Amino acid sequence: WLNVTGGFSSSTATNSYFSGIIMDVTEQKQNDLRRSKFIGMVSHELKTPLTALKAYVQMLNNWAKKQKDNFTIGALSKVDKQVKKMLNMINSLLNLSGAEAGKIHLKKEEFRLDVLINEVVEETLFITSTHHIVTSPCDSVTINADREKIEQVLVNLLSNAAKYSDKTAEIEIGCTVRGDNVEVSVRDQGLGIAPADIQKLFLPHYRVESKETEKIAGFGIGLYLCAEIINRHHGKIWAESEPGKGSTFKFTLPVG
Ligand code: ADP
Repeated sequence: WLNVTGGFSSSTATNSYFSGIIMDVTEQKQNDLRRSKFIGMVSHELKTPLTALKAYVQMLNNWAKKQKDNFTIGALSKVDKQVKKMLNMINSLLNLSGAEAGKIHLKKEEFRLDVLINEVVEETLFITSTHHIVTSPCDSVTINADREKIEQVLVNLLSNAAKYSDKTAEIEIGCTVRGDNVEVSVRDQGLGIAPADIQKLFLPHYRVESKETEKIAGFGIGLYLCAEIINRHHGKIWAESEPGKGSTFKFTLPVG
């Protein structure tokens, strides 16, 4: 739209110049939609065999436990970890294509947020293994929300806290009820984020450019998705940080 206005403001603009810009924008939008649809289809196709793989790993694990076969149990735990990582990435891509097409469908249900937090912490401890995650006392609280998507937000925030911190540093997660809302916070003692970057973290594909972050893999879509999901639930999400001292990501959701 800025381009279009620019065309008009130069008083010599002709109709053909004007229509040329409109076509560019439309074509760009169609390409974005096609790309988004393609990502959605591929991720969906990948999710099915991976989900089956996860189930077989679990089945084999049960069998190995009965046999008390520690070698197989150890190997399966490593496979399970990688499968879970891939499923997280695929879920992010699926959500991205949905968000870009302007449709995040919420399947709302009532559930205990504090229970979900404990489950996600256990899972993340398993996947990132070397980090100490501490849960500060969580208020017991029931919310009406899309459980899978809120789980995705928690997984994203916790894995970022792990990704952008030292291997042994502590990560703390807590939830507190404040009036009609519950506030969840994930605090790390990692790299921290400069004030100029904090404003842009939740934009799609935004990654902080620094010597430290360039060694850490990522697509820059996790926080964008967190923001889309929390906004769709009428909540708020933000970050507080000091470079070198760590970051705290917080979000709120309506209670009940
Ligand atoms: P990704 O981690 O895949 O790059 P995200 O959207 O999750 O994408 O995060 C965007 C950027 O925000 C990251 O590239 C990183 O620079 C910064 N960031 C996110 N979480 C943290 C954190 N806990 N500590 C420091 N920087 C972070």
